[in-house]
Amino acid sequence: MFLEPGFKSQRSGWIEVICGSMFSGKTEELIRRLKRARFASQKVQIFKPTEDTRYDERQVVSHDDNALMSTPIMFSSQILEVQGGIEVVGIDEAQFFDRDLPKHAQTLCMRGIRVIIAGLDMDYKGQPFGPVPDLLAVAEYITKVHAICPHCGNLATHSYRLTHDDETIVLGEKDKYEPRCRACFSMGQILKFPD
Ligand code: ZN
Repeated sequence: MFLEPGFKSQRSGWIEVICGSMFSGKTEELIRRLKRARFASQKVQIFKPTEDTRYDERQVVSHDDNALMSTPIMFSSQILEVQGGIEVVGIDEAQFFDRDLPKHAQTLCMRGIRVIIAGLDMDYKGQPFGPVPDLLAVAEYITKVHAICPHCGNLATHSYRLTHDDETIVLGEKDKYEPRCRACFSMGQILKFPD
C-alpha cells in the first residue's frame, strides 16, 4: 500500500500516478489517498475531464460508488486555476487530457502541491494512452494496479473492447470492456463467453 511521504520536510510538491487497465481500482485508490489527506486536514481539490460523464457531472465516482466532488475541466491548463490554499490536487481519467498535463502538473509541484493522478496507461489497442506515459516519466511515485482476467484468473493489464467501434475513446463500462491479461488480450474475439 502506498504510504505518503511527509509534507513538512519537502522542498516542493510531487507527482503520484496511479495507472492500470479498466476495472483495476484506479479511481478507488485515488479516492482513498484523497480521503486520507482530508482526514489529515489538508485542503484537496479534484479535477476531471468534461469528457468523462459516465456517472455524474461533478463527482469523481468509482465503480463501487465512492464519490468526491470534482471540478470538470476541458483543458489541462485549467488545473493552474486551483483554489488558493489547496495542498493536494487529484486528477482522474488523465488519459483524456491533452499532452500538456505533465507540464502543468509539474508547475503545481513547484507551488508546493502534491498532485495525484489516476488514468488508463493503455488504450483498447494496448497502446500508451494520451499524456499518461509522459506523466509516468516525470512522476516521483508510480502505482500500477491490476484487474483480474475473467478468462484465466491471471492479473489483467489490458482493457479489451467487446464492441466493434474503432475510435480511441468510447465511453463505457462492463457492457463495452473487460479486463484481460496479455495472453487473453492477444487472442481477441476468439475468446468469448458463451451466451
Ligand atoms: Zn487471461
